[in-house]
Amino acid sequence: MAFENLSSKLQETFKKLKGKGKISEKDLKEAMREVKLALLEADVNYKVVKEFISSVKDKCLGANVLESLTPGQQVIKIVNDELTTLMGTSESKLNFSDTGITVVMMVGLQGAGKTTMCGKLALNMRKKNKKPLLVACDIYRPAAIKQLQVVGSQIDIPVFSMGDKVKAVDIAKAGVAHAKDQGYNFVIIDTAGRLHIDDDLMGELKDIKAEVKPSEILLVVDSMTGQDAVNVAETFNNEIDVTGVVLTKLDGDTRGGAALSIRHITNKPIKFAGMGEKMNDLEVFHPDRMASRILG
Ligand code: GDP
Repeated sequence: MAFENLSSKLQETFKKLKGKGKISEKDLKEAMREVKLALLEADVNYKVVKEFISSVKDKCLGANVLESLTPGQQVIKIVNDELTTLMGTSESKLNFSDTGITVVMMVGLQGAGKTTMCGKLALNMRKKNKKPLLVACDIYRPAAIKQLQVVGSQIDIPVFSMGDKVKAVDIAKAGVAHAKDQGYNFVIIDTAGRLHIDDDLMGELKDIKAEVKPSEILLVVDSMTGQDAVNVAETFNNEIDVTGVVLTKLDGDTRGGAALSIRHITNKPIKFAGMGEKMNDLEVFHPDRMASRILG
């Protein structure tokens, strides 16, 4: 489960603090040291950890926790608020187009969970009375189109494809035209993923972006890859300016470092979390609920 290790470490630290009537400067310092270590062990980016701890310390001093009658509770509240801020403060809603058809580009490295996420988002949108269409633009991996079709058939959502001989940008354009023709109002474009970021991939994504002018470019990253996920997010964001991040496999990530670092590093909101392999395993990302989950 997500944040399992971090959660138990922090709970241990706070149990000690709560056990004391008053706390000394030394107690607070020790607690902050433990929080810092727990975050680093959770694979949170070093810079993020440093800023987080310094901000928590400032707030503790500002709130005069050493004078408080319930210092433990106060420190926990401050940490909770700062964790929430770190992950984005409040839920970040999906952007919808006001011209009828909302186009979402799903981008990310191979294996991140992009195709699965296309299906999850399509299903989620249908529940909200949208008419989704999936568009298969990964023309490089032979099984990719088939995989999207399998996902589509599982949830009974149509997939637009033109095989693998047509340029991805042309498929994307034709997919949106098809949606207009057929009355679909939510188009999800599954783009190609590679094992590594390369110029061709980025060039293709930029072409698609320029052609279909999406309301959202969602970057799908595998939370289990920790700081690598953060680096990937940074690069993608610098290259194509994504509108949001989707974290997958949060169900399997016991550390949680990506979830805690990505917002701060990229300044882009985390919009959804994948919590399993099934099409229903999608959560809207709520920073406050995630923080509560961490603190238990
Ligand atoms: P793509 O290459 O980016 O399109 O990735 P896929 O959608 O094919 O996903 C790669 C693997 O990750 C598949 O085995 C998926 O079932 C699995 N997967 C995707 N999302 C999640 C998730 O949120 N949790 C778990 N546990 N597995 C996931």
